[in-house]
Amino acid sequence: ADELMYSEKQKYYDTILREGRGSRTGQAAHLLQSIQNHQFTVVYQPQVELATGKIVGVEALIRKKGPGGKLITPDHFIPRYEREGIIRHIDLYVFEVLCAQLKKWHDRGDRLRGSVNFSRVTLMETNIVKTLQNVCGQYGVAPEDVTVEITESVSKVENAALNALINTFHAAGFSISLDDFGTAYSNLSILGELDFTELKIDKSMLQDLTGNKKKQALVKNVILICKDFGNIISLAEGIESEEQYALLLKYHCLLGQGYYFSKPLSEKVFNTYYRTKKTFRAPAYPH
Ligand code: C2E
Ligand code: MG
Ligand code: MG
Ligand code: MG
Repeated sequence: ADELMYSEKQKYYDTILREGRGSRTGQAAHLLQSIQNHQFTVVYQPQVELATGKIVGVEALIRKKGPGGKLITPDHFIPRYEREGIIRHIDLYVFEVLCAQLKKWHDRGDRLRGSVNFSRVTLMETNIVKTLQNVCGQYGVAPEDVTVEITESVSKVENAALNALINTFHAAGFSISLDDFGTAYSNLSILGELDFTELKIDKSMLQDLTGNKKKQALVKNVILICKDFGNIISLAEGIESEEQYALLLKYHCLLGQGYYFSKPLSEKVFNTYYRTKKTFRAPAYPH
């Protein structure tokens, strides 16, 4: 992470420092300083192709370094940065770290893809796709290897703008994933209106999946809808048991992520893990 290209950020940083502290610019300057002082780090959670048990990618997730080396999870700071309007710095930092990481993996022959979360406000920035394309270019990473995750609620007014943006992402080669599907932030109609590459079934839909027939019907049919809607990739998050894995296999869910495979890992731990466990054994279908 030391070799990150901060040129663009540094320019921005200098400008806001000149503009002074207080208000949003001061908060942004403070956050950028924390980023440059390595107070944040990125962890990687493996994503597995369920039919083969093969690790095919990672989701990059932000962590803040707390006292005594403890890592603080994003729910403790993301909402505040969103409110303050400075979340872009986290999103762009994680994106850049992921690109640097993908390049390292690709250089040593590991064909991994990467997913990254973006707040809606960051996505709505002018020229965001160009910005991300440039970062990919700087690191020699193909946009085809990157998936941008968004958490979206349906809003008739804004869907036209969002669809235009999604198409721009597609044109540049990026995949777009709808995160947290099945929570309050999503509903079915959004799938018909927006052109997503992937749908992430929220972990709340997997809770008690094995003991709840109605949940099974929901999950099974969401996966079917993905297929019928022109092969949207289905990804189940929050897989914690072999029983859940087996059910998702039975429903032909394509990808999965969860503690059953691994918690999010630091670069170092991921590399060791990946070397020893590239592939999981897929469980037998339940009857
Ligand atoms: P998410 O994008 O839905 O990420 C999945 C979350 O579920 C992660 O929490 C992950 O650690 C957790 N998880 C994964 N597998 C399991 C499981 O089997 N069981 C359970 N109980 N949990 C599991 P995390 O890392 O705390 O991230 C929370 C949220 O913070 C993320 O939810 C994402 O929306 C947001 N976030 C993380 N990094 C970024 C970022 O760089 N930018 C933005 N805007 N948001 C981020
Ligand atoms: Mg996510
Ligand atoms: Mg998310
Ligand atoms: Mg999610």
